[in-house]
Amino acid sequence: MNINFTTATFRDFENIPDYNIAQRAEIFYEFLEYMKSNGHMNYRLKNTTGTNSVVSVDIENQNKEYVSFVSSDYLGFTQHPKVKQAAIEGIEKYGTGTGATPLIGGYFDYHNRLEKKISSFFGRTEDEAVVFTTGYTANSASLQCLMQKEDLAILDMAVHASMYEGCAFTNKKTFPHNNLEALEHILRTSENLYRTKLVIIDGVYSQDGDTSYVNEIYDLVKKYNAFLMVDDVHGVGILGETGRGTLEEANLLDKIDIITGTFSKTFGSLGGYVIADKKIAALLRFQSRQQIFSATAPPSSAGIIKAIDLIDEEPVWREKLWSNINYFKKGLDDLGLDTGITRSAIIPVKIGDPHVTGDVGRLLIDRNIYTNPILYPAVARKDARIRMSVMARHEKEHLDKTLNAFEDINKKLHIAKK
Ligand code: PMP
Repeated sequence: MNINFTTATFRDFENIPDYNIAQRAEIFYEFLEYMKSNGHMNYRLKNTTGTNSVVSVDIENQNKEYVSFVSSDYLGFTQHPKVKQAAIEGIEKYGTGTGATPLIGGYFDYHNRLEKKISSFFGRTEDEAVVFTTGYTANSASLQCLMQKEDLAILDMAVHASMYEGCAFTNKKTFPHNNLEALEHILRTSENLYRTKLVIIDGVYSQDGDTSYVNEIYDLVKKYNAFLMVDDVHGVGILGETGRGTLEEANLLDKIDIITGTFSKTFGSLGGYVIADKKIAALLRFQSRQQIFSATAPPSSAGIIKAIDLIDEEPVWREKLWSNINYFKKGLDDLGLDTGITRSAIIPVKIGDPHVTGDVGRLLIDRNIYTNPILYPAVARKDARIRMSVMARHEKEHLDKTLNAFEDINKKLHIAKK
């Protein structure tokens, strides 16, 4: 079709009413070819070691080593010998899969131990936790179960895609990110119109790494008799005096109606969880579609139980992570680069123009540094950025190598904002 993708993106063509699947796929295919021809394909690169290991080898058979900033294995627990050992023991004992949904027998004793462990991590009881197979479904399946056509979901615009998916069949209103006046306006004007009003926010936002105004939002939620759901997948293990996340920092751990999270980031595995009042938890356990129709997390998830313990037993990983975050962010800031308002292990370098951002991604790959250029629709059209996740296992030499690369790239492409 020969679309000029320097001025458009495939999303602009997505909703053309009379285009069928094949035509839409053709446009997307052209878009991929365009991205490849510009060297802007940092996405889905094959690597042979996993990117959690900080240095990932042999991306696309180049036989080179890359410093990786693309994994959310923040504390390095995917590589921790004790976590690996517990996962191996899980496999030895139960095999490699569960073969069933929880309602028909796929609920093994390690799922139950996991629910006990994660609930007590948050100071709750076992019957207040439900384990899901991914963080994505902890959000989407729970919301789909709880929110129906008589209800209203009020979402911060920047919440994760899984939240939006969960709200497909309910009424939805969004407010600009962290905008308390806009949130209050929605709460005030929708009073008495809906059965349930549920405000949905993230603890840490996944593209800017900033945190929600959770205390103020909690007060508004109480004032207008609504409920509050917080997804803190990028905060748990990282923020808070003892690593309980954004809600520990805000002193709200025991006050939030629904807390959701993942086992795929800080806890180094796969899976998700919901923490809620025991009756809401029971509703989710028996009525959410993931729990009824989809298989449970595999026996290697037994490793998560150890990973949760390690948050308290080995705080050194959190300390190492924060020392890396502070060092790296300061280095980028000193170069005049715009790291926005991050307060977490997610560090963006905001560039704005999507094509320049793609070029920066390619130049970093040329310097053996693997990052994610983030473009529209993940962020606003003119808010493209390089997104990096710092990990406890990064060494100073990895961070210095990356800072040097940014310094050189800045000389060439002038991406500094200050
Ligand atoms: N919520 C947020 C804010 C996320 O960033 C992610 C993962 N990208 C998820 C939920 C989903 O978690 P998982 O990858 O474990 O399904």
